[in-house]
Amino acid sequence: MEEIKKCEECGKVLKDETDEPYCKQCDEKLDKQFDNIEDNIFIFKELLDSEIKILEKFDDEDIKDLFKRAYTKLSHEEGGLKKESIIVLNKLKDSFKLKESEMGLEKLPDMKDLKKTLPKDECPECAKKIKEDFNLCPYCGCILKDDFVPRS
Ligand SMILES: [Zn+2]
Ligand SMILES: [Zn+2]
Repeated sequence: MEEIKKCEECGKVLKDETDEPYCKQCDEKLDKQFDNIEDNIFIFKELLDSEIKILEKFDDEDIKDLFKRAYTKLSHEEGGLKKESIIVLNKLKDSFKLKESEMGLEKLPDMKDLKKTLPKDECPECAKKIKEDFNLCPYCGCILKDDFVPRS
């Protein structure tokens, strides 16, 4: 007997020969939801529990790609990974039991590591008080801005 395949989302019988578990309409709807979740992570650094439920309908590979894109994008923001970026990335990581090493990524900083780097008015090398807009530490000479190229 031939197996009748139904859309996992709406229950409609799938007539086409397809490996997809969803009908075309649901597939499009889910893709759109996925895009919205991606925006929410990228722009608002938010990942709601209801959004995790939606992401659970996607393949592991889709989730890993999403994590990689989010990690890369949020790392390249001005000032590097922000606290809220790390929180949202950790949430995504923990919800889907992702491992940075398996995705070829560097380990996300721990929140406790982050605290060490938080004061922006302190030189990370010598811990003397500095101004936030300094390119170089006037005390020890270390470079404070990643994009600063010293004149030789
Ligand atoms: Zn459907
Ligand atoms: Zn210094």
